[in-house]
Amino acid sequence: MNEVKKPKKPLIFYYAIVIGIILAFNLVIMPLFDGNRVKEVDYGTFMEMTENRQIGLVEVQDNQILFTDIENKQIYRTGIMNDPELTQRLKESGAQFGGEIVEETSPILAMLLSWVLPIVIFIALGQFMSKKMMDKAGGPNSMMFNMGKSNARVYVQSSNGIKFSDVAGEDEAKENLSEIVDYLHNPKKYQEIGASMPKGLLLVGPPGTGKTMLAKAVAGEANVPFFSMSGSEFVEMFVGMGASKIRDLFKQAKEKAPCIVFIDEIDAIGQKRDGRIGGNDEREQTLNQLLTEMDGFEGNTGVIILAATNRPEVLDPALTRPGRFDRRVPVELPDLQGREDILKVHAKKIKIDDDVDFHRIARMASGASGAELANIVNEAALRAVRQGRTSANQSDLEESVEVVIAGYQKKNAILTDKEKMIVAYHEIGHALVAAMQTNSAPVQKITIVPRTSGALGYTMQVEEGNKYLLSKDELEERIATLTGGRAAEEIATGTMTTGASNDIEQATKLARAMIARYGMSDEFGMVAFETVTNQYLGSDASLACSSETQTQLDRQVVKLVKAQYDKAKDILIQNKRKLDILARALYEQETITGDEFMAILNA
Ligand code: ADP
Ligand code: ZN
Repeated sequence: MNEVKKPKKPLIFYYAIVIGIILAFNLVIMPLFDGNRVKEVDYGTFMEMTENRQIGLVEVQDNQILFTDIENKQIYRTGIMNDPELTQRLKESGAQFGGEIVEETSPILAMLLSWVLPIVIFIALGQFMSKKMMDKAGGPNSMMFNMGKSNARVYVQSSNGIKFSDVAGEDEAKENLSEIVDYLHNPKKYQEIGASMPKGLLLVGPPGTGKTMLAKAVAGEANVPFFSMSGSEFVEMFVGMGASKIRDLFKQAKEKAPCIVFIDEIDAIGQKRDGRIGGNDEREQTLNQLLTEMDGFEGNTGVIILAATNRPEVLDPALTRPGRFDRRVPVELPDLQGREDILKVHAKKIKIDDDVDFHRIARMASGASGAELANIVNEAALRAVRQGRTSANQSDLEESVEVVIAGYQKKNAILTDKEKMIVAYHEIGHALVAAMQTNSAPVQKITIVPRTSGALGYTMQVEEGNKYLLSKDELEERIATLTGGRAAEEIATGTMTTGASNDIEQATKLARAMIARYGMSDEFGMVAFETVTNQYLGSDASLACSSETQTQLDRQVVKLVKAQYDKAKDILIQNKRKLDILARALYEQETITGDEFMAILNA
């Protein structure tokens, strides 16, 4: 869920106002009161008045002398002078000494100054502090005045809430969740037979695949309140707050049952308690409280807890055992059809031409998550506005796929002619090697327009349908295609550039996976040396083998990549004439489509 914070005026702005008010007060208003009552006179006047016996009361203070005229009507003020005989003279003048001369300001003013002003300053300070804390805690709550209170937000269901139909694709997940909806509609049916609903469901999948949306849709379909809180909100700065927030959340939920409680990023509190020294005490307390609460209510109270995570492997086993989050609902990246559906759902929100080929866009955006697809549609609308059109079209969508994949076009990147030529050869190298191999996905587009992501050009290959299995041949061809860029550079210029670093990285990763994970080498056979952790977040791989094996493994990887590189180079040398023609065409046009590429190749 993306919440947009409204931009705040800088704090300094408010402080300027407060200081301004205080200054105005002192400079303009105070003298008005003051001026009537206390009159500033010089010491000479004071002495004169003393001599003339015109002084009623007098009070000598540390830094000033206050005195009144004989009728005690006007108060005067003058400075102090080194005047040892002053007391004597004053006494002779008949003035009365007294501490009664108070520079009384009006009672209202006095109250304002002594009470209201400090309070105003105090509150301002308090707000400032709490804002600071809020920023740290990342929540919309002011901790200062809201200690121990849960900030579970209540989304009471309204008729235009999110429904399953708003979530495109994800049919398995929806099917899984529709049972919950049915239960919330008609709990009797389940109770009669003695079945109890799972208390908790874990939505598991990569970021941006619609987990939050699905949870909201369950509440929307079942027409029940939706409480949502993010795991990270529980783990805050005051120890013990997390546990009390959990208690509070469940208390509220039980009052509003039947309802859905949604805990996003549950891994923030639900990580394995591994007894590490200096572990996060706060998190463990919070987790324990969550476990206790989940045990504490019966299966049939109508409170269903949904939680989302993209790191299911780090969750504490106590959390995933039966009776707690015992059901796991995978929410995977959408397949081709799913992508097309998601694009269509979001395209309804913008003005778009009727002849847009969503299937084609979905094919181009392989591997994109729902959130990215939503972003692609929005980018297309933005591009249409930028170009002064009133609806988005096919080219807007295609360009925004590239924007989301490779970043914006870099308008002012200036490549020298020589660099541009090298990039053209590099990209044609990829495309030509891909095209000359039988199992490789067809080339969709080649471009040498630099992107903000740093790519100087790229070759887009698109599979026709969904691909679930990759054969050894296909993987090898992929590596060959990746090395094709550098190979073409070498053939054209006889030297190497830094432009191939990303290709090299990918080729190495693939080769290593083939040997260490997919068992595709003769030497090692079906032994896994590499295991994947963090499956949904970029798939880090960790190696587990002896150092000798590792040495051998590295050698195998080098051998494999080298063989494919040689193959790519052979292909390019055999087709040197085509390579030159195509590179020149790309150099001149900067972007050529897959069809244009094939036409030149087959000419
Ligand atoms: P997650 O919680 O899995 O990280 P969200 O549910 O917050 O993802 O999804 C983020 C945004 O992506 C949603 O607001 C929605 O616009 C879009 N989105 C993701 N998946 C889908 C989908 N299956 N159908 C339609 N929109 C989707
Ligand atoms: Zn490349």
